[in-house]
Amino acid sequence: MKKTPFVSLEKLKEITDAYPTPFHLYDEKGIRDNARALMEAFSWNRGFKEFFAVKALPNPFIIGLLREYGCGCDCSSMTELMMAKALDCHPGEIMFSSNDTPPEEFAFANAIGGIINLDDITHIPFVEKALGGIPKTISCRYNPGGLFTISNDIMDNPGDAKYGMTTEQIFDAFRILKEKGAENFGIHAFLASNTVTNEYYPMLAKVLFELAVRLNQETGAHISFINLSGGIGIPYSPDQDPNDIRVIGEGVRKVYEEVLTPAGMDDVAIYTELGRFMTGPYGCLVTRAIHEKHTHKEYIGVDACAVNLMRPAMYGAYHHITVMGKEGQPCDHMYDVTGSLCENNDKFAIDRYLPKIDMGDLLVIHDTGAHGFAMGYNYNGKLKSAEILLRSDGSFSLIRRAETPEDYFATFDIFPELHRKLLGEA
Ligand SMILES: *Cc1c(COP(=O)(O)O)cnc(C)c1O
Repeated sequence: MKKTPFVSLEKLKEITDAYPTPFHLYDEKGIRDNARALMEAFSWNRGFKEFFAVKALPNPFIIGLLREYGCGCDCSSMTELMMAKALDCHPGEIMFSSNDTPPEEFAFANAIGGIINLDDITHIPFVEKALGGIPKTISCRYNPGGLFTISNDIMDNPGDAKYGMTTEQIFDAFRILKEKGAENFGIHAFLASNTVTNEYYPMLAKVLFELAVRLNQETGAHISFINLSGGIGIPYSPDQDPNDIRVIGEGVRKVYEEVLTPAGMDDVAIYTELGRFMTGPYGCLVTRAIHEKHTHKEYIGVDACAVNLMRPAMYGAYHHITVMGKEGQPCDHMYDVTGSLCENNDKFAIDRYLPKIDMGDLLVIHDTGAHGFAMGYNYNGKLKSAEILLRSDGSFSLIRRAETPEDYFATFDIFPELHRKLLGEA
């Protein structure tokens, strides 16, 4: 599918007059339309709830938009829990799907009404100690091992993933938790990441629904919800087709009616913890070409770097690039588009055919709305960029300012003299 930016060059010029590049820009209308489509796709299930994976885009303004559609928060750390609390998530609206978790985070999650999703059977005594008991509502994360395949295509490798309990362990865990007073049980699994197929959720649902029936029959546990977690992907590349959330919702419904309904389990709520699917396509990194270099290859240096978007450097991930204002021109120049880190993998594109780029051109790097800004870091003393929201009415707002040297040096404030000197105040 042809990829076009959600913002026009004219609008970008307005925004860059107010805020310097680089920055991440988010599309309010896209986020809202997509959230509405998800809710409609699962409206057949009475208890359906999406817990937005906060790690994908931890910005309260964006999560606030999603809250309007009934989304809760999926958290994995203390600060994410704090954000969910500040966003007035009620008891039952926070999923705490963490792993390798410190005791105080379990305690805080429980205190603010979060649902604890246990990553391992050994976490039962750990949580019991941290909380002084086992919560009435509790979830367990499942990992069947092996490879997860869809019609012979390997989607992912759960057997090599650190998360979740084995089949045997989850049966034991349910028995133990029930003995310790748990009443409402959930099952969670995340078996494949960034799947660009409508079949992943229905296939995962079948695995989890069949497991739920067996767990119910063999342990007597009441299964309240089944959490399909994240993993619905987005088409980063123009030759991929986007998932159709209506088809996915109907696919899960079909399996629900085949497996859960006949077992008398048609009160089970479906939960999701989508991140990438909720915001990925509705964000982009806006950057400017500031250098061109002709050596053994043709390089375009931009004012963003891997600190602003790590996925290409970390996973070799493809992110589509549009040279703004040149959409109609032939892609007849092969470039490496680079950032400024002292790391040769700091490249947003390698051997990419693009229109001829001139200095000062604005580049839109697509699909940075999830796991984009959030993965940022400060290597080479680089500062994190601003985040800007393009409103549905065409106006725009700064929803996080860019970092400053003061932010970067803030943790040296325990040495007042050094701190002042770093800031050039001494
Ligand atoms: C990362 C993560 C998600 C979200 O994954 P996406 O690929 O962004 O949909 C959901 N649940 C858990 C436990 C995760 O770790």
